[in-house]
Amino acid sequence: MATDADKIRQVQEIFRSNFSSIASYADKIPDLLDNPFTYGYRTILLVSQGTDRRVTGFSLFLHFPEIKSSLLDFIAIGPKIKGGGLGSALYEATRDMLQRLGSRGLYMEALPDDPTLVRDPVVLKENRERLKFYEYYGVYPIVGTAYETPIDESPAPYLFFDPLGRKQPLGRRECRAAVRLILQRKYSQVVSPEYIEMVVRSIKDDPVRFREPRYHRIETPTPAPMRGERLQRGMVLVSSTIHRIHHVRERGYVERPARIEILDQVLTDTQLFDRITPKSHGEKVVREVHDPDFVNYLKTVCEKLAPSRPVYPYVFPIRRPERKPKELAVRAGYYCIDTFTPLDQNAYIAARAAVDVALSAAEELQEGRPVAYALCRPPGHHAGRRVFGGFCYFNNAAIAAQWLSREGKVAILDIDFHHGNGTQDIFWTRADVLTLSIHGHPNVAYPYFSGFTDEIGEGFGRGFNKNFPLPENAGDQLYLDTLDRALELIHRFKPVFVVLSLGYDTMTGDPTGSFALSVRAFRTIGSRVAALHRPLLIVQEGGYSLRNLRRGSTAIFRGINKMLLEE
Ligand SMILES: [Zn+2]
Repeated sequence: MATDADKIRQVQEIFRSNFSSIASYADKIPDLLDNPFTYGYRTILLVSQGTDRRVTGFSLFLHFPEIKSSLLDFIAIGPKIKGGGLGSALYEATRDMLQRLGSRGLYMEALPDDPTLVRDPVVLKENRERLKFYEYYGVYPIVGTAYETPIDESPAPYLFFDPLGRKQPLGRRECRAAVRLILQRKYSQVVSPEYIEMVVRSIKDDPVRFREPRYHRIETPTPAPMRGERLQRGMVLVSSTIHRIHHVRERGYVERPARIEILDQVLTDTQLFDRITPKSHGEKVVREVHDPDFVNYLKTVCEKLAPSRPVYPYVFPIRRPERKPKELAVRAGYYCIDTFTPLDQNAYIAARAAVDVALSAAEELQEGRPVAYALCRPPGHHAGRRVFGGFCYFNNAAIAAQWLSREGKVAILDIDFHHGNGTQDIFWTRADVLTLSIHGHPNVAYPYFSGFTDEIGEGFGRGFNKNFPLPENAGDQLYLDTLDRALELIHRFKPVFVVLSLGYDTMTGDPTGSFALSVRAFRTIGSRVAALHRPLLIVQEGGYSLRNLRRGSTAIFRGINKMLLEE
């Protein structure tokens, strides 16, 4: 495993290759991190790591305690890393962390996108891309000040402010204090104290003004659907807030509460859904799907864990899988498939609440709803009969499918980027539940040991499991063609209910996936799945870029809704 010194060395390499003109600054990074008192601010380094634990990118920011605000100094991605989503993921992780630290705002600089100042078309394009990126997060340059007064011949940067979700506007006094600190910190070597005071005093507006958006329309709530755009009894969304207690604050733990909050909010804004809160269901149906011994273990171990002391499995049974370790914490490896899904005090409670969300949505279908969306968190499709893993504890989709299978055949289509190994395992010998999964090829994608085409089920279940592994970078065309093959199988199976395990991690730029699906593809997926004309339960699985969650969810449900209206 990489040590901190190792990671910092890798960060320095990325720094030097990204910022060659100031490469020597990289030498200072270790000292900045170690000595906040010398510098008068705390320097924080956030790194992202790939599956092989190599550092893929970083953000370096400073926190000024006297103004309770922060400055994003550098954000960069390794030279051989395919861009796209990693920049967003890092930026989002940085904001997340600052919000937790109680920061009142994040300042940053970026070079202008003004063609009268930047002549080089390549540089201009880069600058525009960066400003467009910030605009996406509602972050704009501060205008009406002398901040951009050039120091030499090169154009001076704009100053941006990210309010980090706070509601109060940025006042003049607060902004002046911040600008003074930033200029002293970044430019005291090259400008005079008079220059700094001149810029500070040039901030006159109160509150401070920001530039109008140029690249995105201002985000207004999606207008209400027109008359006739919504069915009498249309789609229903089921969500719960209990999941929030399950928040693993480990670096790189991308499965966080904000995912569900974003989905909930954007879908509420579409006004396409009725909403219900989940009812609690007993443990019986959970035990029909998961080994009772496994259910007991999860319940007991979580109850016994101390708050904020998660347990990560670290010993796995190989030679004597029948022999369970005595100590509960060590036993975690007996029931887990990987080393990154921790048990903690709240995991069991949150996982049971997610099951209730899925079951409550399933009941809506039984009452005649065409479509129900279960906004489950934690996700479930990696949880097998007696194992947890991949951020999953109980298999929400499988438990709901089991519940629905009392009324007839069920088809489960898993379109998360990762193979639905748990769902496959649970229905492996069943002929009344068809399990299909389209996913990243297990040669290169988690969970690595399953998801191959020769896994077709056993016994009565033989032929009722089918995997569609796809290569890295699979795009819209290949994906939609594969989807059609899966849908054809469902069509021939004639299920009473269809369960869709939905992940947004197939979209371009997801930090855990390597497909390249567009927003438009999601709309098409929605309309094609809805064209099965079967009651459809959609269960939320993965998807870790908040931006993709926002765009993908709107797209897929608009696609579904359109198809419902055409019926
Ligand atoms: Zn996934």
